[in-house]
Amino acid sequence: MKIYYAGTPEVPFNKPRAEAEAMIAAGIAFAYVAPAPPARKPDAQFAVHRTTRSKQPFIAASCNSCGSKAQFTGPTAHKTQVFRHCGVTDAVPEHIAEQYAKLRAKWKAPAPQSTEKFPSFELVHF
Ligand SMILES: [Zn+2]
Repeated sequence: MKIYYAGTPEVPFNKPRAEAEAMIAAGIAFAYVAPAPPARKPDAQFAVHRTTRSKQPFIAASCNSCGSKAQFTGPTAHKTQVFRHCGVTDAVPEHIAEQYAKLRAKWKAPAPQSTEKFPSFELVHF
């Protein structure tokens, strides 16, 4: 059991429970309660980026406090997606949502790749 001598709360030490309880009962020591760790302060950052190949816009969210990261994409990502971290839920900020909506409106999805370039499996190759 962790206790500290009366008048020295900054120097806690361990004692067997029976001994510690006797010291506490005698009034020469107190039970030590570790201070709660500091609560995390949510620190979310949002930004709009584009993918390297297709230039598809996406919203990137990250938190400097807990290290969580998320990426959202899709036609309604700026309205429907939220960033959950540090026990809080952050919606996409207004200015980021506007920026994303503008880029998304301009962006065109690339045409699906033709499979003609990749001939199907043929035994002649082996
Ligand atoms: Zn966080």
